[in-house]
Amino acid sequence: APDALRSLVESRIRDVQDFPTPGILFKDIGPLLADPEAFAAIVADGARRHTGRVDFVAGIEARGFIFGAGLAHAMGVGFIPVRKAGKLPGPTVEVSYDLEYGQARIAVQEGAVAPGSRIVVVDDVLATGGTAAAACALLELVGAEIVGLDVVMELAALGGRSALVGREVYSLTVA
Ligand code: AMP
Repeated sequence: APDALRSLVESRIRDVQDFPTPGILFKDIGPLLADPEAFAAIVADGARRHTGRVDFVAGIEARGFIFGAGLAHAMGVGFIPVRKAGKLPGPTVEVSYDLEYGQARIAVQEGAVAPGSRIVVVDDVLATGGTAAAACALLELVGAEIVGLDVVMELAALGGRSALVGREVYSLTVA
C-alpha cells in the first residue's frame, strides 16, 4: 500500500488488550470508521486496484461488510454477504471450518453468484486465515472465481497467509 495510506490507517486502529477474551490483542477499527478521509482512502485504494477486474465484492461478517459494501458501491458492482450460518433466509450453501476451540459455519445464499463471477473477498483483519480461507472455498463451491482477498490489517505472527497459499492477499498494514 502507499506509505501515506499505510500510516494513516495505522494511526486509526486502536489496540485493545484482552478483548473479547484474555490473551487477545484486539484491533479496533472504530477510529478508522469514524474518520471519513481514512475510510474514503481505503475504499479508493481498493477501487483503484480492482475496478474492471471483478464482478462482485464479497464481505465477511461483520466488519468485512463495512469495507466491502463501500468498495462495491465505489466500483458499481454488487455486494455479497458471507454470513454466519443461520442468519440468511434459505436456501443457502454452507461450509464449516476449525477455530482454535471448536468450529464455525458460514453461509451464502444459493444463486447469489452467477457461475464464473470474479469476486474479491474483503475483511478487516486477517488473523489465522481460517475464516478467509473458508469464505473463498465457499464462494468457489458456488461457482465463483476468487480474484483475491483484501484486508485492512494482517497479523503476521498468526500466519494467515499459509492458510491462503496460491491466493492473492493484499493487506494495507501488517502488524
Ligand atoms: P481468522 O479466521 O483467525 O483469520 O480470524 C479472522 C476474523 O476474526 C476476522 O473476521 C476478524 O475480524 C476477526 N479477528 C481475529 N483476530 C482479531 C483481532 N486480533 N482483532 C480484531 N479482529 C480479529
